Amino acid sequence: MQAQIINGLEIRKAILEEIKAETAEYKTKTGKVPGLVTILVGENPASVSYVTLKVKTALEMGFNEVQVNLPESCTEQELLDTVEKYNRDDSIHGILVQLPLPKHIDENKVIYAIDPDKDVDGFHPVNIGRLLLGGKHTKYPPCTPAGIVEMLSRAGVGTEGKEVVIVGRSNLVGKPLANMLCAKGKNANATVTICHTGTKDLASHCKRADILVAAAGCPGLIKPEWVKPGACVIDVGVNRVGEKISEKTGKKVAILKGDTDFDALLDIAGYITPVPGGVGPMTIAMLMKNTLNAFKYTMEK
Ligand code: NAP
Repeated sequence: MQAQIINGLEIRKAILEEIKAETAEYKTKTGKVPGLVTILVGENPASVSYVTLKVKTALEMGFNEVQVNLPESCTEQELLDTVEKYNRDDSIHGILVQLPLPKHIDENKVIYAIDPDKDVDGFHPVNIGRLLLGGKHTKYPPCTPAGIVEMLSRAGVGTEGKEVVIVGRSNLVGKPLANMLCAKGKNANATVTICHTGTKDLASHCKRADILVAAAGCPGLIKPEWVKPGACVIDVGVNRVGEKISEKTGKKVAILKGDTDFDALLDIAGYITPVPGGVGPMTIAMLMKNTLNAFKYTMEK
């Protein structure tokens, strides 16, 4: 039987519709809406396109979206002052500083300066600690792993008692995802193994996975014969392997490949995410969800 394709674009659409409806409901009841500030330093083309999409999506949700563009030459102190301004602004519930920052600015210093209760990216150590404690302590799970958990849940892939193998131990994906999936509770309760470049015999770990998450950033790293028949394969990898002309726009675009061989796995896996169109679209949906939750926490105070 062919694997069921988990379509991130469709799941994102459903989540965004729910967020939009909830925001409209809050607006009717209280006259208030979630506020998100997106802070961009410089004009890195990838960062500009990510921020543009975040701003557009936040506006579509009905959020109060404030966009701050600082020049590449801005000092670390100017950026810290901007963060502090929005820490104190009650109409702003989420602060997003687009990474990476120019080399003369200490990224950690900026992340640590964000009020943890407004850190909708979930990168502040306080939020990482909350995630580790789990359950009701978790406030803002980082968006990519949160998107994966949401995808599994909405696709009906149970995690309870499952063997999960995650290839990649970054602070952005692998480590937080492992914590989320081994937590006690709903959409978790799995037995999790994290693999990395120090892992001996990666194949043998992958082969026993009920849910295999590839988050290494290595095109085609996971060989089809490493995947257990019927397993769920979540491919987080986004690797640029060349360029092509887009049929839609006529412009040059990157050819993207995941860490797995999608076509070969169609006849082996039970569930699979495509690249692009799988995990990627989920990240922005979870950012909007974290922002709505940040707003809800202040309304409940
Ligand atoms: P990262 O910080 O570079 O971490 C990669 C991890 O994979 C590291 O832990 C590394 O091990 C491990 N690894 C690399 N090559 C390996 C190999 N041959 N065998 C075993 N382990 C290996 O990357 P990341 O930020 O987590 O991102 C991973 C991938 O996901 C990238 O392709 C990125 O573009 C993509 N991504 C997508 C989204 C999205 O779709 N929204 C979001 C974030 C990331 P060591 O720790 O030993 O070096």
